[in-house]
Amino acid sequence: MIAHSRKVGDIEVTALSDGRLATSLDVILGMDRTEAARLAGTTGGDVHIAVNAFLLKLSGRWALVDAGAGNSMGPALGRLAENLRAFGVAPEEIAAVFLTHIHPDHSNGLVDASGHAVYPNAELIVHETEARFWLDRDEASGANERIRRNIAKAAVATAPYRQRLRAVREGEAMAGVAAVALPGHTPGHTGWLIASGKESLLIWGDLVHLASVQVARPDTGLVFDVDPQTACATRLRTFDRVAADRLKVAGAHMDFPGFGTTVRRGAGFAFEPEA
Ligand SMILES: [Zn+2]
Repeated sequence: MIAHSRKVGDIEVTALSDGRLATSLDVILGMDRTEAARLAGTTGGDVHIAVNAFLLKLSGRWALVDAGAGNSMGPALGRLAENLRAFGVAPEEIAAVFLTHIHPDHSNGLVDASGHAVYPNAELIVHETEARFWLDRDEASGANERIRRNIAKAAVATAPYRQRLRAVREGEAMAGVAAVALPGHTPGHTGWLIASGKESLLIWGDLVHLASVQVARPDTGLVFDVDPQTACATRLRTFDRVAADRLKVAGAHMDFPGFGTTVRRGAGFAFEPEA
């Protein structure tokens, strides 16, 4: 399955797959390896996680939340544009791309192999803190090799969009779409709250990256987190809010299509996928 649609009031939200990302339990910080393998339900160190983007139909206009990996992370990823076409929407019809953050698996799909815009008519909307952290800065100023590498990739991915990039703060960025700051994974990591009528849905990006481990143990950081401690605090606070408000969510790395909610279970939380 490459596409799955649901309604949020009058807004249609469609999960589109970009593919599956091969990762390893080695990305987990500060957890005993045996315990990590037990939680992940694997004996080996390898795990695969979904990479999901979300298509919004906003009163006749099409928008995307995240853009997939493009050709930057191997052939198992980068399927978003072809799945979008298969769903019946041409990339030229996308009027806006909201980014949850500027990591390669969410932003490199903005450009093709030649560096041209895949979404030539789209406004690019990103939190101002995220834009400040990754863009307009010297690669060498990154605190470590991973950050330096991603600064370089961010420059390539956003280059053809610079004249139509809109940096926003917390709050409504477009009718029905509001930015919710979820910092830690990256400094300007953003959830997009979709709201219409009495319904809402929080697209939480990478609030959870490795669900099998981080839902049961929200205080588990990963090497991908720019600030693991802040990411853990944000995850816990957001799980709490989602469970208390019975908020529907959608995750970039939850099993496709990624819709569901977090509920309290015992002393912790569980993720209930939407049937
Ligand atoms: Zn990601």
